[in-house]
Amino acid sequence: MIPPRVEYAAPDSVAEAVSVLAEAGEDAKVLAGGQSLLPVLRLRMAYPSVLVDLGRIDGLRGVRDEGASIVVGGMTRHSDVIDDPLVRRHAALLAAATATVADPQVRHRGTFGGALAHADPAGDLPAVAVALDAEMVAEGPGGRRTIPASEFFLDYLQTALDPGEILCEVRIPKLDDGWSAHYEKFSRTAQAWAVVGVAAAVRRSNGTIAEARVGLTNMSTTPVRARGVEAALTGKPADAATVAEAAMHAGEGANPPSDLGGQADYRSHLATVLTRRALSRAAHIG
Ligand SMILES: Cc1cc2nc3c(=O)[nH]c(=O)nc-3n(C[C@H](O)[C@H](O)[C@H](O)COP(=O)(O)OP(=O)(O)OC[C@H]3O[C@@H](n4cnc5c(N)ncnc54)[C@H](O)[C@@H]3O)c2cc1C
Repeated sequence: MIPPRVEYAAPDSVAEAVSVLAEAGEDAKVLAGGQSLLPVLRLRMAYPSVLVDLGRIDGLRGVRDEGASIVVGGMTRHSDVIDDPLVRRHAALLAAATATVADPQVRHRGTFGGALAHADPAGDLPAVAVALDAEMVAEGPGGRRTIPASEFFLDYLQTALDPGEILCEVRIPKLDDGWSAHYEKFSRTAQAWAVVGVAAAVRRSNGTIAEARVGLTNMSTTPVRARGVEAALTGKPADAATVAEAAMHAGEGANPPSDLGGQADYRSHLATVLTRRALSRAAHIG
């Protein structure tokens, strides 16, 4: 299918991109890897007047160390996130989840910022951002601001980004000593979107689970932080019984959709099973 006619701009800096977006008004769209946006245009589900391609802005790419956090540029491709030594060391959950995104072609074009800004409930990375207490750094006509991941995802395909704002980078607090992580994803075919996914990170200490972070994919219109699961784990023995009991809380606060991927009750069942698996793998149990 052929996308609608659209003007194209490829600025060299964030400042220039913000100014092109401001000039074009609410009809303008940011283009990152194009893996979600181009299908939307081809299906004629959106009619932007201008596409502002961020691909030439080198400063939006890469990962840097900022002491207690790592900072991932919005235009960092999935394949670069997976291979990055800082991500692998300090945010292993992000590397694990990103490795399950689609296929190598999509991972070589799609970007971390694009996946978060698109806010697809079936996308794997929003649940990771929420579980890791990431912070989104956005720039627009009013300057820079930071939005906690817990306040970023508003509804189906909707975020707290204002029109004209660019998601420049994502700050992720390091999870280092004693932490380990696993992303468990159930999909109907290999390399497909998640019917349900579970992002789990656990810190073991002296045979107990000292801390846990759990985020759920596709269990609502936005990613779900499974606080009930986390509370049921904290301070408990790191064993199969603890994990099984905690996983029973996975559906709390969720509002799973019914669609071609599965009915809501099936998703609730999957969330329990996958949470148990994700925690067992993350905590090296069984
Ligand atoms: C066949 C296929 C399978 C896929 N499977 C999966 C999967 O299993 N799991 C998964 O998580 N994802 C999957 N995806 C989506 C993939 O992760 C995309 O890369 C991602 O959703 C969008 O990233 P992008 O860089 O391509 O963004 P684009 O498509 O360029 O943009 C997406 C949206 O975000 C906005 N946007 C992009 N970047 C920014 C920014 N920096 N600031 C502000 N707004 C921005 C755009 O304006 C647009 O509205 C799949 C995609 C395809 C084509």
